[in-house]
Formats: sequence, C-alpha cells, structure tokens
Amino acid sequence: MLTQEALATGVDEQWAEEVRRLAAEQDAVILAHNYQVPAIQDVAHHVGDSLELSRIAAEVEESTIVFCGVHFMAETAKILSPEKRVLIPDQDAGCSLASSITADQLRAWKAEHPGAVVVMYVNTTAEVKAETDYCCTSANAVQIVEAIPEDKEILFGPDMFLGAHVERQTGRKMHVWMGECHVHAGIEPDHIQDTLAQYPDAEMHIHPECGCSSQCMYLLSTGDLPADRTFVLGTGGMVRRMQESKADTFIVATETGMLHRLRHENPAAQLIPANERAVCGYMKMITPPKLLRCLQTGRDEVTLSPEIIEAAKVPIERMISIL
Ligand code: SF4
Repeated sequence: MLTQEALATGVDEQWAEEVRRLAAEQDAVILAHNYQVPAIQDVAHHVGDSLELSRIAAEVEESTIVFCGVHFMAETAKILSPEKRVLIPDQDAGCSLASSITADQLRAWKAEHPGAVVVMYVNTTAEVKAETDYCCTSANAVQIVEAIPEDKEILFGPDMFLGAHVERQTGRKMHVWMGECHVHAGIEPDHIQDTLAQYPDAEMHIHPECGCSSQCMYLLSTGDLPADRTFVLGTGGMVRRMQESKADTFIVATETGMLHRLRHENPAAQLIPANERAVCGYMKMITPPKLLRCLQTGRDEVTLSPEIIEAAKVPIERMISIL
C-alpha cells in the first residue's frame, strides 16, 4: 500500500503495480537506499543502508538487481554479485564524497607513502576500491584502524571529518584525504546547536551512514554535542532506542530521507530533522518515472571489468571479516 506521501508525489497505485509486475517478469529485486524518495522506498522489496543493501544484494536469488541509490553503491552490489545484472535508474546519480578522490590521485598518494595501508570509506568508486587495502563505513572505521598494526602508516580517505573522528578515537595519527560530502553543509554546528536549544528535552540521534553525518560524529568526539543525550545509532538501534527512551522527541542528524523509514517504524515518536535542508540531490536523481523506465528498457546497466571486480572485492571482504 502506498503512503499518503507517495500519492502526493503524483505516483499512483498503477505505477506501483506496473513496477512490481515488471520486476517479477524480469526476475528482478528492487533495493532502495534509506535516502530515496518515499514512493521508491514503498515500492522496493528491501530498504536499507549501503552495507545492508550490499549484503542483501549478495544473497538474493533474483538474477537482476535494480539498485535505487547512488552509483558507487550499485557498483558495490555488482562487485559482490558479479554474475547478476545490476541496473541503476540513472547512472549519473553520483556522490560528491566519492568524486573527491580518483584512482589516479590515490595511486599518486600511495607513491608518496610506499608501504602505507590504505583505508577508504565505502563511499568510493570501484576503481578507487581496487587500489584500497580496507574499506570502512562510519560505523566500523575505528575498529578497522585499530586492527592495523601500530607500526604501519595509514592513508585514510576520502572523508576528512570521519578521518579526524577516527584519529581522535584511536589516538593514532594518519594521513587524511581532504574530501567531504556536500550534504553535511546542511548539518552545520550552528544549525545543530539551534535545534538542540529549541528542543531541550529531545535526544539527538546521529545515523553513521554516509558522509552527511560524519561531521556530527566529529563534533560529538570533540565535546561540542551533549554526550548525555546524543546517540550514534544505526537504523535498527534508533528504532529500539525510540521505543525504550523516556523522551518523545528526537532530533535526527542524517539525510532527511531516513525520516520516512523511521516514522513508518516509530509512528508515536516526534522526529525533527537536524536540518530540513540536508538533502542529497544525487539520491533524489532516482525518481519514480526513472525506476519505471529502468525496468522497461534496462537503462542503466552497471558494468565493471573482471580485473576491477576482483581487486575491489578484496577491501570489501576484509572489512566484512573484521566485523
Ligand atoms: S549524502 Fe553525501 S556521501 Fe551520501 S551519497 Fe549523498 S553526496 Fe554521497
């Protein structure tokens, strides 16, 4: 059943039925990232963060994966399921953080630091992953760095806020790439302090997904956010905390698309975005008409060379093995 929000976007039951019919006809599973528009989250077979979706992509039985998210995420699905056809409704749905480092730049950086271990946020292209030793997410970056021998130099990228947070948490000096996600500009310290002051009894929940929230994690580690009412939680953890907490209002620091799922799973809670303007325009390039077109025409297929797939799989699997 489509929500009121979905219907308000001009998407109707007929669109949803046609999307599901075509998916069944083509043996396709539709995966949607938490930052997708509500109509796409509602019609998808699975909704989750990038790591959850990668795991699902590797396990599903369908021969085609339609990935509603940004391009590097669809690439990760292809790396983990190379025998499957992976489609993305718009191949131009990029990521400002992933674009902040290219494979050539990484190769040049490695040449300046021979023998260094490369740890890259999962928000990178497949070509960059192919040059990487360990992938990480915001949720496991500290654990990954702690697993690397003390005497090794570390090149960490491309998110400078996550890099600073990890340095602070581990007490370890690293070489950090100065990349960033444009969306966190909508979740700046002043906005957060204003919102906290406006809701003095509210808890603050930071979702450690994507570059848009890494600045908040850094602020928490510097003591600029109230530690007694700030929590860093994944989606399941947020839902549980909201059910257990005495608070009835929660400030959520992440891209605003996440609120759709949280409201659905926790209708009694009052959810306030840390900033309404924290919207990832790349994620929103995946629209309901493009999803339908994708199923009708096969646009756009994600293709990677076998060499890139083989090399890029290594840091992803290392990351998963450390968890
Ligand atoms: S929110 Fe930022 S890091 Fe996440 S996909 Fe969008 S641009 Fe990339």
